[in-house]
Amino acid sequence: MNQSAEAIRDRVARNWRDVVGAVARACEDAGRNPSEVQIIGVSKYVDAVTTAVLVEAGCRDLGESRPQSIWQKAETLKADLAVDPCRIHWHAIGHVQRNKVRRLIRNPTTVHSVDSERILRSIADQSVAADKTTPVLIEVNISGDEAKTGLSPQEVESLLGSRPDNGVHIIGLMAMAGWGTDPDQARGQFAAVRRLRDRLAPLVGLPLSELSMGMSGDFAAAIDEGSTMVRIGSRLFEGVPRM
Ligand SMILES: *Cc1c(COP(=O)(O)O)cnc(C)c1O
Repeated sequence: MNQSAEAIRDRVARNWRDVVGAVARACEDAGRNPSEVQIIGVSKYVDAVTTAVLVEAGCRDLGESRPQSIWQKAETLKADLAVDPCRIHWHAIGHVQRNKVRRLIRNPTTVHSVDSERILRSIADQSVAADKTTPVLIEVNISGDEAKTGLSPQEVESLLGSRPDNGVHIIGLMAMAGWGTDPDQARGQFAAVRRLRDRLAPLVGLPLSELSMGMSGDFAAAIDEGSTMVRIGSRLFEGVPRM
């Protein structure tokens, strides 16, 4: 069944308001100010048209797991859908290959998923060449889950110790709870990420103030454990056709 454009717009707007409300409640429950937590709308499930609808609803931060989706959608939003690019900040939340970096950073993008020294150096080099500084987070595999991406805590520490001087601004750590973890286990993993940050920040001389953790199913626990960036996809697109 085809939903009308208007029905999709109404549903996405309602989902967005619901998520903003739920994040605000999670902040209140955690004794935190909602302004401390940024909501990244993970638009990887939907096409550029529905992504534009989410921007219209008020979401300014868009997350994509494939770098090419960022530059393709950025182009379509600007050229075909008349969305002002200044209203959007992109977040790369999946594995980035070095041959994608140059095109990726043309649009204002925060890279959450830095998972090797090579990719960090490539982002730094390409950013310097483009006369930019790219905000990045280091992805930590806190669950120890072999299937998960991200660096071990020891690897994060050594990466931070040998970081490039220019081109990147390392703003924090990103993590995902292991597959199939219930919210209680996820909470323990989020707390471990925060403790890792608390230990490493003074050691490496960076504030690492951002913690990107929490998705549709576990953002409340993540916020309670100090998350500053929640990456929410499914909940924003409930009742909306996917790509
Ligand atoms: C898809 C994805 C999300 C969003 O997950 P939902 O459960 O749909 O909210 C968040 N983070 C990453 C890294 C993802 O790949």
